[in-house]
Amino acid sequence: MPRLPALVAFLLALSPAAFAQPCQCIDQGDIKARIAEAKAAMEAYGAEIQKMSEQMMRTQSPLPYTRERREKLQGRVQGAINKVAAGRIQTAPTMGDNPGGTDNLCNVTIGLHPSATACMRESVRRHEEHHRQECLKTRTAGKIATSVRTGADRFERDGFQLTQYASEEMMGYSTEISFLEGELYRLKTACQPKREVRDYTAELRNRSQQGQKPADPVKGGLDTARKLLGF
Ligand SMILES: [Zn+2]
Repeated sequence: MPRLPALVAFLLALSPAAFAQPCQCIDQGDIKARIAEAKAAMEAYGAEIQKMSEQMMRTQSPLPYTRERREKLQGRVQGAINKVAAGRIQTAPTMGDNPGGTDNLCNVTIGLHPSATACMRESVRRHEEHHRQECLKTRTAGKIATSVRTGADRFERDGFQLTQYASEEMMGYSTEISFLEGELYRLKTACQPKREVRDYTAELRNRSQQGQKPADPVKGGLDTARKLLGF
């Protein structure tokens, strides 16, 4: 009768759920690299928000989002990401976002290089899903019409402050970090090399001369008789 825990483990390993996981053992390096990038991005946005807040306090005036301001902000954040980037994944911004994008209709585009792994795609997809949810909160037919008419993106159109844009980005990266750290924790256990269960007592038995050649009582008795009787 097969041992039940072993059987269950075997069946789980075969289940489709095991194959459906976007991140596998081989992705652990990518995951660590992406966490470092996301943390660098969050830190950079945090510092930018601090600077913007100070500026707004000093000037006693708001700092509205404009595409020009966004580009400059993104350039500085990208610089911070590049410092820690291990070059494992393509982080070139697409549609002014990094590295996926969410348009004014709240459609998500993942602009990763075709060679990007399912694991990295999933991380970026979750980042963009955060933007999509934020986008859907304000989407109306009227606003879409305005965007189409004026060409304004949703932050411009809705009169966002630059700090609000930066906060949404921070949350996007925070979503990625939560996902990636969870995966790293899961893989740490799942990817440990399987330890062989060895029967050391059997090994000792096999190595011992006595174990290999049990004493033959008939031959032993005969030897003793030869010694005693001298033949
Ligand atoms: Zn983003």
